[in-house]
Amino acid sequence: MAETFERVWQETWGTWRSDWPGLVRAALTAPFRRQTYLNIAYLLFSLPLGAVYVCVLVFGLVFGLATLPILIGFPVLLVVIAAAGWANNFEREQARIWLGVEIPPPIPTMRPASGLRDRVLTYLRDQVTWTNLLYLVLKFPTGALTFWLTFEAISTAVRLIVHPIVGMTNPAIGGNDADALLVPRLLFGGLFAFVAIHFLNLLALLSGRFARIMLGPSEAALRAVASEAEAARERQNAERAEQSRRELMVNVSHELRTPVASIRGHVESLLMAVDEAAEHGRESLPNDQLHSYLGIIHRETERLGALVDDLLALARSEAGELRLVVRPVDAADVVNEVHETLAPLAWRDRSVTLIAECEPGVPLVLADRDRLAQVLLNLVRNAITHTPAGGIVSITLQEERPAADGQRYVALSVADTGAGIPPDELDKIFERFYRVDASRNRASGGFGLGLSIVKDLVTAMNGTIGVESRVGEGSRFTVRLRVADQRAEARRSAKQDVGTAAR
Ligand code: ADP
Repeated sequence: MAETFERVWQETWGTWRSDWPGLVRAALTAPFRRQTYLNIAYLLFSLPLGAVYVCVLVFGLVFGLATLPILIGFPVLLVVIAAAGWANNFEREQARIWLGVEIPPPIPTMRPASGLRDRVLTYLRDQVTWTNLLYLVLKFPTGALTFWLTFEAISTAVRLIVHPIVGMTNPAIGGNDADALLVPRLLFGGLFAFVAIHFLNLLALLSGRFARIMLGPSEAALRAVASEAEAARERQNAERAEQSRRELMVNVSHELRTPVASIRGHVESLLMAVDEAAEHGRESLPNDQLHSYLGIIHRETERLGALVDDLLALARSEAGELRLVVRPVDAADVVNEVHETLAPLAWRDRSVTLIAECEPGVPLVLADRDRLAQVLLNLVRNAITHTPAGGIVSITLQEERPAADGQRYVALSVADTGAGIPPDELDKIFERFYRVDASRNRASGGFGLGLSIVKDLVTAMNGTIGVESRVGEGSRFTVRLRVADQRAEARRSAKQDVGTAAR
């Protein structure tokens, strides 16, 4: 209880202290706010409601207990308990509607009761049952008190304002100097009404807090439930992580087997061929045979190297070690750099044309420059790989229309005229080791890790990535990045500079 009071005080006082102008504005506008009159209505209605609760409870309990020996009492007591439960729900609703106070319902027990007896016992053992009942019983005296205070405050205010006005027209009431005292009396009446309104608002605030304490679960119970839910979430995460670790092991071993088997096969063939050549007294193997074997071994070793790089990137991302330096970046610069690197290769190796279009004046985005280049390289390489000869891959950069919350984004897209991705595969391609056509892609060199790394990087830069595709027509991957608020960034780095200088 003391803890709750302390928290309420901290919350209220803490908010007020940090917002003085807001507090003064709220105080001055209180008489014109709808909430004030809802509060007054709540205070006035507390008395009749309290009277009804007390009548039902007292009459029900007395009648139920008196008739218990002739067995009618038992169902009567059950009805009274049900009515009390209903009244508590009703009170929670009233507090929400009139006072704007959210009261959480009682926490269901972890072990659900099976029979009627069990349920009644659980209900009776719950501490909240008794505080709820006590609240209903106390509603009558507290309601009477709030009704009386509200009634007195309103009637006095009305009297103080109306009396001088009536006195002016009828000197018998107002006295001889009614005219001269009209303005001070009216001012006093207004001041009293103003203070009364704040007093009633305070009374309503206290009533709301009282209802919250008596009708809702205790803070300790809520904390226990929250930590229970947190523990369950943690357990689930741990299980998921364990499952994904197991899957990763299986996938990695599977992926390693193919290149390792290929390298071993070719090295063994080479050794046999060398032995054979030696047997026949030849100096060495024919050049083309040697070149072909070594070429295959070289390609497979490169694939192994790429897999190890990807696995390292994944491990870093999973261990939360993706240390990005997110700052304002000129994405057009990155686009031009990637275009310059890959356009000649795309044409030479696959006869694919790579074009880049950047909207003029695109604002800077929040990103890590090197990682953004890695993301774009990955998307463009994929697009080139999956586009047949004569196709086109285009990179576009443009600012999007501002979102509803005012946040501005820049869209970086990579579109191709390639094979496309079937609709039911679209949401899976960002998963680890997922390949649309495993056999085709194994031959083309991918391990199905590229896009999942791209997604991790984009997410770490507070961006999003999406894909649209039509089979046979092509695909478009779009990365959305936040526009850098340059003034905020300048302030932030200035602060950092000052901090560094001070050190
Ligand atoms: P990989 O390293 O195998 O390319 P990714 O994670 O980069 O793995 O891609 C996953 C799968 O998504 C690929 O195997 C491929 O089938 C599909 N994919 C990616 N980009 C494209 C694209 N531009 N067009 C068609 N399919 C694509």
